[in-house]
Amino acid sequence: MSEQTDPLPEHCVPATAVTLVAGPCSAETRDQIFSTAGQLAPLGLRLFRAGLWKPRTQPGSFEGVGAEGLPWLIEVQQRFGLRVATEVCLPEHVRLAAESDLDAVWLGARTVANPYAVQALAESLASTELEVWVKNPISPDVQLWLGAIERLERVGKKPQGAIFRGFKTLSVSPSYSFRNTPYWSVAFELKRLRPELEILCDPSHITGERRRVGIVAQQAIEMGFDGLMVECHITPEKALSDARQQVTPAELSAIMAGLYQPSNPLHEDTQIADKRALIAELDEAILSTVAQRMAIAREIGFYKKQHAIPILQADQFHHVLEQCCASGARHGLDTSFVHRLFSAIHEESVRQQTAIEKDLPSSSQ
Ligand code: PEP
Ligand code: MN
Repeated sequence: MSEQTDPLPEHCVPATAVTLVAGPCSAETRDQIFSTAGQLAPLGLRLFRAGLWKPRTQPGSFEGVGAEGLPWLIEVQQRFGLRVATEVCLPEHVRLAAESDLDAVWLGARTVANPYAVQALAESLASTELEVWVKNPISPDVQLWLGAIERLERVGKKPQGAIFRGFKTLSVSPSYSFRNTPYWSVAFELKRLRPELEILCDPSHITGERRRVGIVAQQAIEMGFDGLMVECHITPEKALSDARQQVTPAELSAIMAGLYQPSNPLHEDTQIADKRALIAELDEAILSTVAQRMAIAREIGFYKKQHAIPILQADQFHHVLEQCCASGARHGLDTSFVHRLFSAIHEESVRQQTAIEKDLPSSSQ
Protein backbone atom coordinates (compact mmCIF):
# COMPACT_ATOMS: atom_id res chain seq x y z
CA MET A 1 0.00 0.00 0.00
CA SER A 2 1.25 3.47 -0.75
CA GLU A 3 2.29 5.68 2.18
CA GLN A 4 0.93 8.75 0.45
CA THR A 5 -1.72 10.62 2.36
CA ASP A 6 -5.12 11.07 0.74
CA PRO A 7 -5.82 14.44 -0.88
CA LEU A 8 -7.91 16.81 1.22
CA PRO A 9 -11.64 16.94 0.41
CA GLU A 10 -12.80 20.07 -1.41
CA HIS A 11 -13.16 23.24 0.71
CA CYS A 12 -11.08 21.75 3.53
CA VAL A 13 -7.79 22.66 5.16
CA PRO A 14 -5.56 20.61 7.50
CA ALA A 15 -6.75 20.81 11.11
CA THR A 16 -3.60 21.98 12.83
CA ALA A 17 -4.81 23.48 16.12
CA VAL A 18 -6.36 20.35 17.63
CA THR A 19 -5.85 19.90 21.38
CA LEU A 20 -4.47 16.42 21.97
CA VAL A 21 -4.44 14.41 25.18
CA ALA A 22 -2.82 11.02 24.60
CA GLY A 23 -1.15 8.14 26.39
CA PRO A 24 -1.86 4.58 27.41
CA CYS A 25 -5.11 3.40 28.92
CA SER A 26 -3.07 2.13 31.88
CA ALA A 27 0.44 2.73 33.16
CA GLU A 28 1.96 -0.77 33.22
CA THR A 29 5.74 -0.41 33.57
CA ARG A 30 8.22 2.44 33.78
CA ASP A 31 9.65 1.45 30.40
CA GLN A 32 6.24 1.42 28.73
CA ILE A 33 5.41 4.87 30.10
CA PHE A 34 8.78 6.26 29.17
CA SER A 35 8.94 5.01 25.62
CA THR A 36 5.31 5.94 24.89
CA ALA A 37 5.82 9.47 26.24
CA GLY A 38 9.10 9.86 24.34
CA GLN A 39 7.42 8.96 21.05
CA LEU A 40 4.38 11.13 21.74
CA ALA A 41 6.27 14.25 22.89
CA PRO A 42 6.89 15.55 19.33
CA LEU A 43 3.11 15.63 18.73
CA GLY A 44 2.78 18.61 21.06
CA LEU A 45 0.48 17.07 23.65
CA ARG A 46 -1.69 19.19 25.88
CA LEU A 47 -1.50 16.36 28.44
CA PHE A 48 0.12 12.93 28.63
CA ARG A 49 -2.46 10.56 30.09
CA ALA A 50 -2.00 7.21 31.88
CA GLY A 51 -4.47 5.43 34.15
CA LEU A 52 -2.97 4.41 37.51
CA TRP A 53 -6.23 3.43 39.19
CA LYS A 54 -8.57 1.61 36.83
CA PRO A 55 -12.21 1.09 37.81
CA ARG A 56 -12.96 -2.05 35.82
CA THR A 57 -16.37 -3.53 35.09
CA GLN A 58 -15.22 -7.08 35.82
CA PRO A 59 -13.39 -8.00 39.05
CA GLY A 60 -10.15 -9.79 38.33
CA SER A 61 -9.25 -7.54 35.39
CA PHE A 62 -6.08 -5.47 35.63
CA GLU A 63 -6.96 -2.66 38.06
CA GLY A 64 -3.87 -0.52 37.58
CA VAL A 65 -0.46 -0.25 39.22
CA GLY A 66 -1.74 2.44 41.60
CA ALA A 67 0.62 4.78 43.45
CA GLU A 68 3.65 2.84 42.19
CA GLY A 69 3.25 4.60 38.83
CA LEU A 70 3.23 8.16 40.20
CA PRO A 71 7.05 8.59 40.01
CA TRP A 72 6.98 7.33 36.38
CA LEU A 73 4.62 10.16 35.45
CA ILE A 74 6.76 12.68 37.30
CA GLU A 75 9.80 11.45 35.36
CA VAL A 76 7.86 12.00 32.11
CA GLN A 77 7.00 15.51 33.28
CA GLN A 78 10.62 16.32 34.06
CA ARG A 79 12.33 14.55 31.18
CA PHE A 80 9.99 15.51 28.30
CA GLY A 81 8.41 18.67 29.68
CA LEU A 82 4.96 17.09 29.27
CA ARG A 83 2.08 17.87 31.59
CA VAL A 84 0.77 14.60 33.04
CA ALA A 85 -2.72 13.38 34.00
CA THR A 86 -4.41 10.36 35.53
CA GLU A 87 -7.92 9.25 36.53
CA VAL A 88 -9.01 9.68 40.16
CA CYS A 89 -11.75 7.55 41.68
CA LEU A 90 -11.29 8.17 45.43
CA PRO A 91 -10.21 11.16 47.56
CA GLU A 92 -7.08 9.15 48.41
CA HIS A 93 -6.11 9.22 44.71
CA VAL A 94 -6.55 12.99 44.69
CA ARG A 95 -4.30 13.33 47.71
CA LEU A 96 -1.58 11.16 46.15
CA ALA A 97 -1.82 12.90 42.76
CA ALA A 98 -1.59 16.35 44.37
CA GLU A 99 1.29 15.38 46.68
CA SER A 100 3.23 14.00 43.71
CA ASP A 101 2.65 17.19 41.71
CA LEU A 102 0.76 15.71 38.78
CA ASP A 103 -0.71 18.44 36.59
CA ALA A 104 -4.21 17.19 35.93
CA VAL A 105 -6.78 14.52 36.69
CA TRP A 106 -10.01 13.34 35.12
CA LEU A 107 -13.16 11.85 36.61
CA GLY A 108 -14.10 8.69 34.69
CA ALA A 109 -17.48 7.68 33.28
CA ARG A 110 -18.26 5.21 36.06
CA THR A 111 -17.44 7.74 38.78
CA VAL A 112 -19.39 10.60 37.19
CA ALA A 113 -22.51 8.40 37.33
CA ASN A 114 -22.34 8.51 41.16
CA PRO A 115 -23.10 11.90 42.80
CA TYR A 116 -21.78 10.87 46.24
CA ALA A 117 -18.45 9.82 44.72
CA VAL A 118 -18.27 13.05 42.70
CA GLN A 119 -19.03 15.14 45.80
CA ALA A 120 -16.26 13.46 47.79
CA LEU A 121 -13.79 13.97 44.94
CA ALA A 122 -14.85 17.60 44.47
CA GLU A 123 -14.23 18.32 48.15
CA SER A 124 -10.79 16.73 48.05
CA LEU A 125 -9.88 18.52 44.79
CA ALA A 126 -10.92 21.93 46.12
CA SER A 127 -7.68 22.62 47.95
CA THR A 128 -5.36 21.34 45.18
CA GLU A 129 -3.79 22.94 42.12
CA LEU A 130 -4.81 19.97 39.95
CA GLU A 131 -6.54 20.76 36.65
CA VAL A 132 -9.76 18.70 36.35
CA TRP A 133 -11.54 17.16 33.36
CA VAL A 134 -14.94 15.44 33.56
CA LYS A 135 -15.88 12.52 31.34
CA ASN A 136 -19.53 11.94 30.49
CA PRO A 137 -21.38 9.42 32.69
CA ILE A 138 -22.05 5.89 31.41
CA SER A 139 -25.69 6.73 30.63
CA PRO A 140 -26.81 9.44 28.17
CA ASP A 141 -27.92 11.94 30.79
CA VAL A 142 -26.66 15.47 30.26
CA GLN A 143 -27.96 16.53 33.68
CA LEU A 144 -25.83 13.93 35.45
CA TRP A 145 -22.78 15.15 33.51
CA LEU A 146 -23.61 18.77 34.26
CA GLY A 147 -24.29 17.87 37.91
CA ALA A 148 -20.71 16.60 38.29
CA ILE A 149 -19.38 19.82 36.78
CA GLU A 150 -21.56 21.88 39.13
CA ARG A 151 -20.43 19.91 42.20
CA LEU A 152 -16.85 20.88 41.34
CA GLU A 153 -17.82 24.50 40.76
CA ARG A 154 -19.69 24.72 44.06
CA VAL A 155 -16.53 23.93 45.97
CA GLY A 156 -14.65 26.50 43.90
CA LYS A 157 -12.93 24.03 41.57
CA LYS A 158 -13.90 25.02 38.04
CA PRO A 159 -13.15 22.15 35.63
CA GLN A 160 -11.00 22.84 32.60
CA GLY A 161 -13.27 20.87 30.34
CA ALA A 162 -15.32 17.79 29.57
CA ILE A 163 -14.56 14.60 27.66
CA PHE A 164 -17.13 12.82 25.49
CA ARG A 165 -16.60 9.04 25.41
CA GLY A 166 -20.05 7.78 24.37
CA PHE A 167 -22.61 5.73 26.30
CA LYS A 168 -23.24 2.13 27.19
CA THR A 169 -26.34 1.03 25.27
CA LEU A 170 -28.07 -2.29 24.81
CA SER A 171 -29.16 -1.99 21.21
CA VAL A 172 -26.02 -2.45 19.21
CA SER A 173 -26.73 -3.11 15.58
CA PRO A 174 -24.01 -5.10 13.84
CA SER A 175 -23.39 -2.36 11.29
CA TYR A 176 -22.85 0.23 14.00
CA SER A 177 -21.12 -1.77 16.66
CA PHE A 178 -19.22 0.86 18.59
CA ARG A 179 -18.21 0.02 22.15
CA ASN A 180 -19.99 3.12 23.47
CA THR A 181 -22.70 4.75 21.37
CA PRO A 182 -21.93 8.41 20.65
CA TYR A 183 -25.20 10.23 21.09
CA TRP A 184 -23.65 13.42 19.75
CA SER A 185 -26.68 15.47 20.75
CA VAL A 186 -25.76 15.00 24.43
CA ALA A 187 -22.32 16.51 23.84
CA PHE A 188 -23.85 19.35 21.82
CA GLU A 189 -26.31 20.01 24.63
CA LEU A 190 -23.49 20.27 27.18
CA LYS A 191 -21.68 22.69 24.86
CA ARG A 192 -24.86 24.74 24.48
CA LEU A 193 -25.37 24.89 28.24
CA ARG A 194 -21.70 25.51 29.07
CA PRO A 195 -20.03 27.08 26.03
CA GLU A 196 -17.02 28.18 28.08
CA LEU A 197 -15.92 24.57 28.74
CA GLU A 198 -13.60 22.84 26.31
CA ILE A 199 -15.00 19.54 25.08
CA LEU A 200 -12.68 16.80 23.91
CA CYS A 201 -13.83 13.68 22.09
CA ASP A 202 -12.44 10.28 23.12
CA PRO A 203 -12.67 8.16 19.94
CA SER A 204 -10.85 5.27 21.66
CA HIS A 205 -13.61 4.53 24.17
CA ILE A 206 -16.34 5.33 21.63
CA THR A 207 -15.14 2.91 18.98
CA GLY A 208 -13.41 0.29 21.12
CA GLU A 209 -11.51 -0.59 17.97
CA ARG A 210 -8.22 0.95 16.79
CA ARG A 211 -9.01 0.87 13.07
CA ARG A 212 -11.98 3.17 13.61
CA VAL A 213 -10.29 5.67 15.94
CA GLY A 214 -9.18 7.91 13.05
CA ILE A 215 -12.64 7.98 11.47
CA VAL A 216 -14.36 9.12 14.66
CA ALA A 217 -11.53 11.58 15.43
CA GLN A 218 -12.13 13.20 12.03
CA GLN A 219 -15.90 13.26 12.62
CA ALA A 220 -15.35 14.99 15.97
CA ILE A 221 -13.19 17.71 14.43
CA GLU A 222 -15.80 18.33 11.72
CA MET A 223 -18.45 18.64 14.43
CA GLY A 224 -16.45 21.32 16.21
CA PHE A 225 -15.02 19.48 19.23
CA ASP A 226 -12.09 21.37 20.75
CA GLY A 227 -9.79 18.38 20.73
CA LEU A 228 -9.22 14.66 21.30
CA MET A 229 -8.26 12.22 24.03
CA VAL A 230 -6.71 9.15 22.40
CA GLU A 231 -5.35 5.99 24.02
CA CYS A 232 -1.89 5.16 22.75
CA HIS A 233 0.48 2.29 23.63
CA ILE A 234 3.86 1.24 22.23
CA THR A 235 2.62 -2.34 21.79
CA PRO A 236 -1.19 -2.07 21.86
CA GLU A 237 -1.86 -5.77 21.33
CA LYS A 238 0.03 -6.52 24.57
CA ALA A 239 -1.75 -3.82 26.64
CA LEU A 240 -3.15 -4.98 29.99
CA SER A 241 -6.37 -2.97 29.48
CA ASP A 242 -8.27 -1.83 26.40
CA ALA A 243 -5.84 -3.62 24.06
CA ARG A 244 -8.20 -3.53 21.05
CA GLN A 245 -8.64 0.21 20.99
CA GLN A 246 -5.14 1.58 21.56
CA VAL A 247 -3.04 2.87 18.67
CA THR A 248 0.73 3.15 18.42
CA PRO A 249 2.39 6.60 18.59
CA ALA A 250 3.16 6.28 14.85
CA GLU A 251 -0.50 5.53 14.09
CA LEU A 252 -1.61 8.48 16.21
CA SER A 253 0.86 10.74 14.46
CA ALA A 254 -0.61 9.68 11.07
CA ILE A 255 -4.17 10.24 12.33
CA MET A 256 -3.29 13.75 13.53
CA ALA A 257 -1.48 14.61 10.30
CA GLY A 258 -4.53 13.55 8.26
CA LEU A 259 -7.16 15.56 10.18
CA TYR A 260 -8.91 18.28 8.23
CA GLN A 261 -11.62 20.85 8.79
CA PRO A 262 -13.86 22.95 6.51
CA SER A 263 -11.93 25.97 5.24
CA ASN A 264 -15.04 28.05 5.61
CA PRO A 265 -17.06 27.36 8.77
CA LEU A 266 -20.57 26.23 7.85
CA HIS A 267 -22.30 29.29 9.28
CA GLU A 268 -20.30 31.45 6.87
CA ASP A 269 -21.36 29.41 3.85
CA THR A 270 -23.91 31.62 2.12
CA GLN A 271 -25.50 28.81 0.11
CA ILE A 272 -26.36 26.95 3.29
CA ALA A 273 -27.46 30.18 4.96
CA ASP A 274 -29.88 30.86 2.07
CA LYS A 275 -31.34 27.38 2.24
CA ARG A 276 -31.66 27.61 6.03
CA ALA A 277 -33.61 30.85 5.66
CA LEU A 278 -35.93 29.04 3.24
CA ILE A 279 -36.36 26.19 5.72
CA ALA A 280 -37.18 28.69 8.49
CA GLU A 281 -39.94 30.16 6.30
CA LEU A 282 -41.35 26.72 5.53
CA ASP A 283 -41.25 25.73 9.21
CA GLU A 284 -43.23 28.86 10.00
CA ALA A 285 -45.76 27.88 7.31
CA ILE A 286 -46.02 24.33 8.73
CA LEU A 287 -46.65 25.70 12.23
CA SER A 288 -49.25 28.16 11.08
CA THR A 289 -51.02 25.39 9.09
CA VAL A 290 -50.97 23.06 12.09
CA ALA A 291 -52.35 25.88 14.27
CA GLN A 292 -55.23 26.41 11.77
CA ARG A 293 -55.92 22.68 11.77
CA MET A 294 -56.06 22.69 15.60
CA ALA A 295 -58.46 25.65 15.59
CA ILE A 296 -60.84 23.67 13.33
CA ALA A 297 -60.43 20.58 15.52
CA ARG A 298 -61.45 22.71 18.53
CA GLU A 299 -64.58 23.93 16.66
CA ILE A 300 -65.44 20.28 16.02
CA GLY A 301 -64.75 19.65 19.72
CA PHE A 302 -67.41 22.20 20.75
CA TYR A 303 -69.85 20.65 18.30
CA LYS A 304 -69.17 17.14 19.64
CA LYS A 305 -69.69 18.36 23.19
CA GLN A 306 -73.04 20.03 22.35
CA HIS A 307 -74.29 16.95 20.50
CA ALA A 308 -72.79 14.32 22.82
CA ILE A 309 -70.68 12.81 20.03
CA PRO A 310 -67.70 10.71 21.22
CA ILE A 311 -64.32 12.37 20.66
CA LEU A 312 -62.32 9.41 19.50
CA GLN A 313 -63.66 7.90 16.29
CA ALA A 314 -61.29 5.19 15.19
CA ASP A 315 -62.70 4.93 11.63
CA GLN A 316 -62.20 8.63 11.03
CA PHE A 317 -58.63 8.45 12.39
CA HIS A 318 -57.74 5.50 10.13
CA HIS A 319 -59.28 7.26 7.17
CA VAL A 320 -57.19 10.43 7.78
CA LEU A 321 -54.03 8.38 8.23
CA GLU A 322 -54.64 6.36 5.07
CA GLN A 323 -55.24 9.47 2.99
CA CYS A 324 -52.19 11.26 4.40
CA CYS A 325 -49.89 8.25 3.92
CA ALA A 326 -51.05 7.84 0.30
CA SER A 327 -50.61 11.54 -0.39
CA GLY A 328 -47.23 11.52 1.40
CA ALA A 329 -46.08 8.65 -0.82
CA ARG A 330 -47.03 10.69 -3.92
CA HIS A 331 -44.79 13.47 -2.55
CA GLY A 332 -41.98 10.96 -2.04
CA LEU A 333 -42.24 10.96 1.76
CA ASP A 334 -41.55 7.89 3.84
CA THR A 335 -44.84 6.25 4.89
CA SER A 336 -43.75 5.44 8.41
CA PHE A 337 -42.64 9.06 8.90
CA VAL A 338 -46.01 10.37 7.67
CA HIS A 339 -47.73 7.88 9.97
CA ARG A 340 -45.78 9.14 13.01
CA LEU A 341 -46.31 12.77 12.07
CA PHE A 342 -50.07 12.51 11.67
CA SER A 343 -50.48 10.24 14.68
CA ALA A 344 -48.86 13.02 16.74
CA ILE A 345 -51.08 15.68 15.19
CA HIS A 346 -54.19 13.57 15.72
CA GLU A 347 -53.23 12.83 19.31
CA GLU A 348 -52.95 16.58 19.96
CA SER A 349 -56.39 17.21 18.36
CA VAL A 350 -57.89 14.55 20.62
CA ARG A 351 -56.19 16.10 23.65
CA GLN A 352 -57.60 19.52 22.81
CA GLN A 353 -61.12 18.20 22.18
CA THR A 354 -60.96 16.29 25.48
CA ALA A 355 -60.00 19.53 27.25
CA ILE A 356 -63.06 21.19 25.72
CA GLU A 357 -65.35 18.35 26.76
CA LYS A 358 -64.06 18.40 30.33
CA ASP A 359 -63.67 22.20 30.58
CA LEU A 360 -59.92 21.94 31.15
CA PRO A 361 -57.35 24.51 30.05
CA SER A 362 -56.51 23.73 26.40
CA SER A 363 -52.76 24.40 26.60
CA SER A 364 -50.02 23.20 28.91
CA GLN A 365 -48.40 26.67 28.77
C1 PEP B 1 -10.05 5.62 30.52
O1 PEP B 1 -9.97 6.78 30.07
O2 PEP B 1 -9.14 4.81 30.50
C2 PEP B 1 -11.34 5.19 31.05
C3 PEP B 1 -11.47 4.20 31.90
O3 PEP B 1 -12.34 5.86 30.50
P1 PEP B 1 -13.92 5.87 30.80
O4 PEP B 1 -14.08 6.42 32.17
O5 PEP B 1 -14.37 6.80 29.74
O6 PEP B 1 -14.42 4.46 30.61
MN1 MN C 1 -9.22 2.80 28.64
